[in-house]
Amino acid sequence: MFVSNLIPVRKRLFIGLLAVSLLSAALFLGGIYYLATNPNRTAFNQILLLTLAGMLFGGMVVAAFGIGGIVLTILYARDINALHGPMRIAVSLFFPIVLTLGRIFHIDVNRIKSSFIEVNNHLVRSKELNILPDQLLLLAPHCLQNSDCPHKITVDIDNCHRCGRCPVNSLLDLRDRYGIKVGMATGGTLARKFVQEYRPRAIVAIACERDLTSGIQDSNPLPVLGVANERPFGPCFNTNITLSKVEEAVRFFIHDRWQPLTGTGKDIGINDNMEGVSVVAQNISQRTGAKSTHRC
Ligand code: SF4
Repeated sequence: MFVSNLIPVRKRLFIGLLAVSLLSAALFLGGIYYLATNPNRTAFNQILLLTLAGMLFGGMVVAAFGIGGIVLTILYARDINALHGPMRIAVSLFFPIVLTLGRIFHIDVNRIKSSFIEVNNHLVRSKELNILPDQLLLLAPHCLQNSDCPHKITVDIDNCHRCGRCPVNSLLDLRDRYGIKVGMATGGTLARKFVQEYRPRAIVAIACERDLTSGIQDSNPLPVLGVANERPFGPCFNTNITLSKVEEAVRFFIHDRWQPLTGTGKDIGINDNMEGVSVVAQNISQRTGAKSTHRC
């Protein structure tokens, strides 16, 4: 059985393109070496080209280990600590080549980014993390807010009146149930500000494939689980989320550090939530000394 058959389909695209990028880099290296060894070159040009070839070769060896590390982590669902660096280098070095190859082969860019997010999530899930609820930041895009809502929630998400017309209400329910931090960002600058302000140890990020891809790479080495939003009305307008996916990502990070209040994995109404808030606040403050952020 081929190794590729053991890798889930949605992850195969990104890993396959990474491997093709490595192959392209090898061909490029061959070309540089051919030019460098051409006797018509001056000694200076030869040294320059050989230096370039040496650097490219070094990068390729590290990236090859990185790609191997990604494949092994996915196959064995185990984190390989020693290969974190090469995996990071492989992704950051070859990501632009992967996108270029995608354009050449007419592969939808969102499919590639979605596959990258799947690979990233798998790598994060292979780690053994021990995170307190208030060390987890849930970052959400502003386009989740109903466009008719008059309340300005990017300055303070608690300005939401929790009418339930958009997913912001459900995200606040999650925050109150689990005692995590939530930030609603209009773009990368505000998202970075939230990260600086809250100094999380892990992030659950909701965004489109494009923003998730850049956010995951910018946040490295912070572990980020990405959840793509749904865009029934097109990009950046009244977008939506599958709450169970977000909740599942939250619970991955804080798995043994919360207690179910009114049931697990189901949406809860405001009244249910109010009943449970004081219990979860007690749980969290006992463990972490953190205060509940819920407004009563
Ligand atoms: S849930 Fe909050 S943000 Fe959404 S429409 Fe209602 S008040 Fe506005």
